[in-house]
Amino acid sequence: MTIRSFNPPVRTLMGPGPADVHPRVLAALARPTIGHLDPAFVGMMDEVKDLLRTAFRTRNALTMPVSAPGSAGMETCFVNLVEPGDEVVVCINGVFGGRMKENVERAGGVPIVVQGAWGRAVDPDQVADTLKRHPNARLLAFVQAETSTGAQSDARTLAEIARRHDCLTIVDAVTALGGSPLEVDAWGLDAVYSGSQKCLSCVPGLAPVTFNERALEKVRARKTKVQSWFLDLNLVMGYWSGEQKRSYHHTAPVNALYALHESLVMLTEEGVEAAWKRHAHHHLALRAGLETLGLELIVPESERLPQLNSVAVPAGIDEAALRARLLSRYNLELGAGLGDLAGKVWRIGLMGYSSRPANILLCLGAMASELD
Ligand code: PLP
Repeated sequence: MTIRSFNPPVRTLMGPGPADVHPRVLAALARPTIGHLDPAFVGMMDEVKDLLRTAFRTRNALTMPVSAPGSAGMETCFVNLVEPGDEVVVCINGVFGGRMKENVERAGGVPIVVQGAWGRAVDPDQVADTLKRHPNARLLAFVQAETSTGAQSDARTLAEIARRHDCLTIVDAVTALGGSPLEVDAWGLDAVYSGSQKCLSCVPGLAPVTFNERALEKVRARKTKVQSWFLDLNLVMGYWSGEQKRSYHHTAPVNALYALHESLVMLTEEGVEAAWKRHAHHHLALRAGLETLGLELIVPESERLPQLNSVAVPAGIDEAALRARLLSRYNLELGAGLGDLAGKVWRIGLMGYSSRPANILLCLGAMASELD
């Protein structure tokens, strides 16, 4: 059999990510590849850093995309900030908090878990109490936007509590960036990572990160070498830093960075706050439609993440069969429940370019027809 070119079906992506990629971003991806040390490319890298600062609402010098998916953004934070023996308070209220714990362990740290309920925000009182009981902890890690459940935690309050206990924060903003309020400087978040494939409407495979001076001081004061060569910030910065001459570290994913650049240009054209409002607005529209279908969101209203809606599967419905029909009949992808929520919810994403009226109408119409 001759294997031919791969032409994927055209889907509407309303799961937990990747989200629909904007046509402008796909067009940028197809521009001619140039060298990753070409002066034209290096100029674009500086623009990507500036655009990311706008998206993250920060002036942090160390703001750049790691050349790998969101998980590598997570690892960048943990391998650089955690040294063997360090106590790290980790909040777990879904899948990704669990991965943070795993990262702490693999970096030789000692995780102290604040266990929360799936589908609920991290409880600030529980965090304050844990930090009181563990005065040696110097890091607090939490997920702002838990994609596995659709719960949004109060990053500003958690960062305030961390500072009171002389702790730095590591914040997962993979699903938050560009979709709901995130103020890295105003809230005093220390190390934050994200992903390109969610509310930025970009292709998967890049992980924007930002570190403030407090976090960098901790990295500089390490007694041990960062155990990952690829993610060691001291080395990566030789390539991404604007101050010194760029030196080869790895071959940057040139075309993927064109795509990220385009998606960030689009975010600044729309306005970061306008993008947050769009996500909030479309969440309300989807919720209203779901309610008319008799469907309920599982997260309490004040803790809901607009860009990820976990919907309780009604009794007697085969959730996987419904998703399969939506995919085959409507080319519409919704997400399944994970972990504690497996089989119990559908996860409907309204992220980036997926957060638009046509998608909401398709989703509601298709669900109404298939649930009938
Ligand atoms: N953290 C959160 C909250 C996520 O939603 C995801 C991906 O869905 C990740 C981390 C990992 O990102 P990636 O799949 O791009 O490695």
